[in-house]
Amino acid sequence: MSRPDDRPLRRLPTLEPRKATLERCVFCPKLCRSSCPVSNAEPRETLTPWGKMSMAYFAANESVAVAPSFAAPAWACTGCFGCREHCDHRNDVTGTLFEARSALVAEGVAPPGATRTIERFAERTSVLRENAQQLAALPEVSDRAGTAVLVGCAYARARGDTPADAVRTVAKLGGEPVSVIDVCCGAPLLYAGDKKRFAQQGEMLAQVVKHKERLVVLDAGCASTIRVHLAELGIGMIAPVVHFTEFAARELAKLEPIDEAWAKGPVRYHDPCQLGRGLGVYDAPRNLLARALGRAPDEFARKREDARCSGGGGLLPVTMPDVASTMAKDRLAEHEAEGGGTVVTACASSLRSFQKRGANAVDLVTIVAKAAGVR
Ligand code: SF4
Ligand code: SF4
Repeated sequence: MSRPDDRPLRRLPTLEPRKATLERCVFCPKLCRSSCPVSNAEPRETLTPWGKMSMAYFAANESVAVAPSFAAPAWACTGCFGCREHCDHRNDVTGTLFEARSALVAEGVAPPGATRTIERFAERTSVLRENAQQLAALPEVSDRAGTAVLVGCAYARARGDTPADAVRTVAKLGGEPVSVIDVCCGAPLLYAGDKKRFAQQGEMLAQVVKHKERLVVLDAGCASTIRVHLAELGIGMIAPVVHFTEFAARELAKLEPIDEAWAKGPVRYHDPCQLGRGLGVYDAPRNLLARALGRAPDEFARKREDARCSGGGGLLPVTMPDVASTMAKDRLAEHEAEGGGTVVTACASSLRSFQKRGANAVDLVTIVAKAAGVR
């Protein structure tokens, strides 16, 4: 019998360019083991980064069958980049598992939640379009504006005030009207495993923003999808793409301290994985909070590069809802153990997950909108 590394990845040939990345994990003594929030929440070897990468590799080189039970671990990942921070090789587990999902979808062995997400993608993006139509009625919005705002499906689906707060804040801080983008970045397709449509969606977005001067993105997941995953496919935006916190932090002097009863107690910042490890944005949200609160925000013991994932990403709430729930509860338990109070984040999925569990959770957009005097 040949050694596994001698075999071509004949069964899932689209993973061939990822062979070296997969093998780095397969032959690794699991050095990043303790960093994976999924296998920490559900301690099974197949759910460690090593286990997930090995399973995709063994399916690809025909060591195991291409079957739903061997495919499922590829979806047991939030795409949090946590393992990369603990890997001497900075191995790209996130991108490789997303690639594996696409290969496994093509084989018809994706988990039902992923298949559903692909089938219902059009329905999901219609909510973004409806939201954009509502925002178009705001006096700050003009189709011809050079600055465009992408709210993202998760904020649009929450049907709260955050999208309008963000649009009005960007317009006020930038001193000019903004336009609102009604095309999704395709993140749900990336997470579910439809790479072809994900690329098409990225091309559509690039077309829509090509005459804009900049794109301000509200959801950290959308910003990371555009700047990391679409860029990997060679799909770039002509306009610079900035997250809301990066845009607002350049205008700190225009913000005033907020006067809210809850802001007098502990206010702890949760780093969203896609904003922090994904884009390397750690200081901008902290600077915004410090300006709004008049003091540095409280911190989790595990923060910045080492922050724990809240379980909201990579489609995990759909494919493994119990594990995603445990991860959110664990993060909130840490928050309580460190003094409780208000938890602030800049990620629609984390916010929803924290609020659903009864936490006093506030979006950073809401705080910046108050500090900018638009709320
Ligand atoms: S990500 Fe790095 S440390 Fe983790 S299993 Fe793979 S090679 Fe090893
Ligand atoms: S990216 Fe995050 S969830 Fe995925 S394997 Fe690595 S640590 Fe685990």
